[in-house]
Amino acid sequence: MTGSDVKRVGVIGGGQLAWMMGAAAKKLGLHLIVQTPYRDDPAVGIADDVVLAQVEDASATAQLAQQCDVITFENEFVDLAGLGAIASQGVVFAPSLRAIAPILDKFDQRSFYQSIHVPTPRFQAITSVSELDASFGFPVVLKARRHGYDGYGTFVCKTQAELEAVLQKPGQSWLVEAFVPFERELAVMAARGRFPQGKCAAPLARTLHESHEIALYPVVESQQEQQVCRRVYALNEFSESVTEQVGAIARQILTALDYVGVLGIELFLTTDGHVLVNEIAPRVHNSGHYTLDACATSQFEQHLRAVAGLPLGSTALTCAGAVMVNLLGFETAESDYAALRQQLAAIPQAQVYWYGKSESRPGRKLGHVTVRLQPGQGRAEAEAIAHQVEAIWYGESD
Ligand code: ADP
Repeated sequence: MTGSDVKRVGVIGGGQLAWMMGAAAKKLGLHLIVQTPYRDDPAVGIADDVVLAQVEDASATAQLAQQCDVITFENEFVDLAGLGAIASQGVVFAPSLRAIAPILDKFDQRSFYQSIHVPTPRFQAITSVSELDASFGFPVVLKARRHGYDGYGTFVCKTQAELEAVLQKPGQSWLVEAFVPFERELAVMAARGRFPQGKCAAPLARTLHESHEIALYPVVESQQEQQVCRRVYALNEFSESVTEQVGAIARQILTALDYVGVLGIELFLTTDGHVLVNEIAPRVHNSGHYTLDACATSQFEQHLRAVAGLPLGSTALTCAGAVMVNLLGFETAESDYAALRQQLAAIPQAQVYWYGKSESRPGRKLGHVTVRLQPGQGRAEAEAIAHQVEAIWYGESD
């Protein structure tokens, strides 16, 4: 029993994030129906039903809605206006369309942070180099305002010529940001419930935002290479000041958006100990995969709990810490890499997740490995484990 009126959850997107919701949905007694364009997408196998359509196809989402009590997102590249028409007919989205509206465009995102006084890098929307405020200097970071992911659409430009070259790319609106010489990149998964605390089965009445249940996961370090997340360390290693800054930012964003569900927040930690928001994702997130093995409630279960109107679960670590390493494609091939996966699975305390994608391409997220740390293990051991995983997966030269 779910303890709420929600039994059927529609998910827009059918990739690995939706796939990893499968086990949690079963546990909570929820049916998952996914909207995804490809029959061989990871989540198709775990879904109770599938609407085969592009994620931005709002008419397909209208069909999805007929089979669901609530609709959520594993992919935010949606047609917001099209979904708005469906919402006006009474379809419930969690998070709401109002909550995701400022997130879809990176310029809107930065403007939103500014409006609620959350620290974020300085930014400017531009269409040509001549518009760039000279006080930015170089390098700057140029970003496509929409549809960027895994570094696609993000360019660090060291000179005006480099900036000019990228701006030539047609069909894109751009945002320039100050380059942040961060010390580390942080992430936190933040969850907010659907109803005010203590009223989980209440009708969908509009309520005081602040009283909704909020649960924050530990602050983690996310390490990127070529703008793609390679590994995440969950080691509870940050100072009280950093943890408090991250917590305050997370609560402020969740509350300002009247957000329901799990939100992935990526941040920069500067050398002088300040925290700035890089970006947020209105869904479960790669930097929270470690929660599957290392926390009392996984981010996937937490998200479903929130959107279904159930009480949130504990976010506590259940081990000394964890390291998560992404298994990125390193060639174009049709292999399931069974032998490599077997070697990875033999690492003590390792859990290997393989997304079952039929084709490998360089940089494509094919799976991940999480290793739980034992008491007494810390940073040095976690780094050695990450190295071991990557040496197996990419070869010793990596
Ligand atoms: P995506 O949406 O493709 O993940 P991000 O905006 O998160 O793009 O950028 C990807 C990576 O690029 C970040 O994780 C970070 O390493 C780097 N990056 C992004 N913005 C900045 C910035 N303003 N200063 C320095 N590095 C940045």
